[in-house]
Amino acid sequence: MVKKKLIIGNWKMNPLTLKEAEKIFSAISKSVSSIGKCSAVICPPFPFIEKLKKSSRKITLGAQDAFGEMSATGKGVGPYTGEVSGAMLHDLGVRYVILGHSERRALGEKDEEINRKVKACLASGLTPVLCVGERERDESHEYFNIVKKQIEDCLERVVKNSLGKIAIAYEPVWSISTTVGRRDATPADFKEMAIYIRKVLSDKFGAKTEMPRILYGGSVSPKNAYGFLVEGEADGLLVGRDSLDPEKFGEILKICDQSGI
Ligand code: PEP
Repeated sequence: MVKKKLIIGNWKMNPLTLKEAEKIFSAISKSVSSIGKCSAVICPPFPFIEKLKKSSRKITLGAQDAFGEMSATGKGVGPYTGEVSGAMLHDLGVRYVILGHSERRALGEKDEEINRKVKACLASGLTPVLCVGERERDESHEYFNIVKKQIEDCLERVVKNSLGKIAIAYEPVWSISTTVGRRDATPADFKEMAIYIRKVLSDKFGAKTEMPRILYGGSVSPKNAYGFLVEGEADGLLVGRDSLDPEKFGEILKICDQSGI
């Protein structure tokens, strides 16, 4: 079965109010009504999820993080002050969860913790969108090893049959819109890394394993979306900045829908 391409909006810690969130969400949902060949996912901050879920059935909701323990009972509840479990998110209607984003890694999150989150989210019926990517590109190509290690460690003891339920977002940190001195990644940069990621996965899980969708993220805009989807053959896009602009996000969705792939 061919999986639909995924266009995922990561709103990060934006916007400030529920009223603004509803306005952006409802404008995006108008663009989604004419989209058939790709899936639109919005990952708002936790406090907005429930209200937004009720305002559109056309957009799938995602979260930007989830806790990595299921508790002794395995039910996703327990004595973990300040945490939100995948099970709670699933109950609210959330279906995707961004894990291991570089902004969380910059706050100290390590592969070991991300691995626990991946397993807990899979057990809760959520699709983890595992973010990987190097901070810098070096001439000796060490960045391939960095991405390899992130993938191997974050997917440690994940069962082979779950791999198809995961999405991997390759987001080179140097191309993210808020990175100081950022540079553009090219579709060729993405394509090469996606081939490498599939090789790492088939070495780890076996050649016959169902592969995850591999998405590109980093300053995606209506100007470069076609290149990453068609030349780069990305299975989807993770969009930060432009997912808060309904016109631009709507255009990216349309480009994906009409790109004939
Ligand atoms: C991100 O941080 O996940 C991201 C892709 O951001 P931007 O599109 O703003 O570079």
